[in-house]
Amino acid sequence: MSASKDEAAPQRQGMRLNTRFLLLRIAIFLVFAVLCAIVFDAMVDTINEQWGKQFAQRQVLFDKYRTLSPLIREIKLARQMAAEPALKALAMRENDIATRQRAIAVMERYRIDFRDHSYFAAFAKSGRYYFNDVNGRYTGKQYRYTLSPNSKNDEWFYATLKDDKEYQVNLDPDAHLGVVKVWINVLLKNGDEVLGVIGTGIDLTDFLKESVGLEQEGMHNFFVDENMAVQLSVDTSLIDYASLTKDSSERIKIDVLFDHPTDVARIRELADKLQGSTKQSEVLTTWVNYRGEKHLLGIAYLPEVGWYDLTLMDERNLAVLHGFIWLPVVFGLLFLVALLILNYFLQRWVLKPISELQHATEEIQHGNLAVDTPLVGEGEIAALAASFHHMVEVVRKTNHDLEIRVRERTEDLHRLTEIDPLTGLLNRRGMTDRFEKEVARQARQGGTMGLLLLDLDHFKHVNDTYGHAAGDIALCAVAKILNSMRRVYDHAGRWGGEEFLVLLPECSKEDLLNIAERIRAAVSILRIETGTQTFSFTVSIGAHHPSTPQTLDAMLQQVDKALYAAKSAGRNRVESS
Ligand code: GH3
Ligand code: MG
Ligand code: MG
Repeated sequence: MSASKDEAAPQRQGMRLNTRFLLLRIAIFLVFAVLCAIVFDAMVDTINEQWGKQFAQRQVLFDKYRTLSPLIREIKLARQMAAEPALKALAMRENDIATRQRAIAVMERYRIDFRDHSYFAAFAKSGRYYFNDVNGRYTGKQYRYTLSPNSKNDEWFYATLKDDKEYQVNLDPDAHLGVVKVWINVLLKNGDEVLGVIGTGIDLTDFLKESVGLEQEGMHNFFVDENMAVQLSVDTSLIDYASLTKDSSERIKIDVLFDHPTDVARIRELADKLQGSTKQSEVLTTWVNYRGEKHLLGIAYLPEVGWYDLTLMDERNLAVLHGFIWLPVVFGLLFLVALLILNYFLQRWVLKPISELQHATEEIQHGNLAVDTPLVGEGEIAALAASFHHMVEVVRKTNHDLEIRVRERTEDLHRLTEIDPLTGLLNRRGMTDRFEKEVARQARQGGTMGLLLLDLDHFKHVNDTYGHAAGDIALCAVAKILNSMRRVYDHAGRWGGEEFLVLLPECSKEDLLNIAERIRAAVSILRIETGTQTFSFTVSIGAHHPSTPQTLDAMLQQVDKALYAAKSAGRNRVESS
């Protein structure tokens, strides 16, 4: 049972704490790293998108006003000119020279103010077209030619007249003049009656330079009309000239800009949303694919000209946090350092002290109680180490006490094996031991020793007559005499049933015989009382006193011989050999 428990213990230990903590740290680090990467990625995306949208909104508004402000100025001027009574008068009375001169003078004044320093005026009734340019090339002959409803080049005029919009912005090459212009066409009206179209043009090349031409790195700018026909683009081949007079199917629309029809559809949706919106300067954004790259598109409506401003921004240029890839790496490294610091203190406060304690327990397990129990660690670990130290001290002390007691018991037992239980004298083993020690002492220090062998006379008779118990009392009485008569360094023992042996070191033969005689005399006067009876008995003694050291056997042989002699000579006497 206990064996199986011991075997199970190491299995239960399993993986070392150190290894466990290492794996735990690796796991925590990996989870942190992955989470960090995911969060950082999401954060970067969100920030980039948010920032991109904000940037797009500002950029679109900027583009919008940059493009719009010169147009608005021209529109305002042209509308002012259309409201001039002199022009209305001319429309109605074209053949009146004075009226014509007044009207032309008014238009010439406007020419100075127009950005292009040019103007035109075309009248519905006569079809006459008046024009003068920056150099005043046509001064005095502002009437240039007469428009014809059958001429393709003049279609813009008849389309504008029919369209009831107060003004329009139209991109058109002027076939007569050989230039492409952004035309601002304003209806000349008297009440509801349309008298003609007046306005000015801006040279497209110049205008493009100032608007869409000012492209920044990774940015593209387009203006499209309400039908999504391209009006302004740095790539002039994409411009849908004369949108006004074209059939919808002939127009160059934003479909040519975007690869995916879904992008176009989404842009149209945003455009519709802007149309319905009441918010001023609203900008909407969406992600589109432009020339194979992901772009953020911002769209704003320009109600003044009926156009939309589309600004495309390359995703890569928008990525504010593009170069911040080191940030998660630094995060990871910082976390790693934190883990290492944690590890250092874990080692110092917990794992190392536990390992030292474990080492000490193993030493103790192998029986080395003298091992130093380490007083290590902090807090609870220190308390545990102190408890362990105390426990080992207790075990050590208990063990020590136990050892002393075992030694004492062993000595007691050992003594018991040398003692005769009846008389308390040494037994045969005890006497043999004392003899050997005495022989060894003699070998070292020299000297002599005498030996006495005693045998009680007719003791069988004593037993038979007074009983065995009485015999035992007699034996004890003899032992008492021997004990009282021996010197401290003499040894007296019960050698057999009623035989005693006395060993007397450093004793002359004379003294030996004297002592033997005194013993014999003392025994002979003993009176044993057994309640009803009293009896006495005698002892025969053999003595031997060798002049040189002898073996026990040799000496025993000699005392035995002397004893036999004493018995033979009538008992109750001392004989020596
Ligand atoms: P001897 O004078 O020749 O010695 O005659 P003995 O009767 O003493 O003869 P022996 O020495 O041969 O006999 C010893 C007797 O001592 C035998 C036994 O009854 C007795 N005896 C031996 N051991 C004990 C003992 O422990 N107690 C008692 N009561 N008697 C013992
Ligand atoms: Mg005998
Ligand atoms: Mg006898």
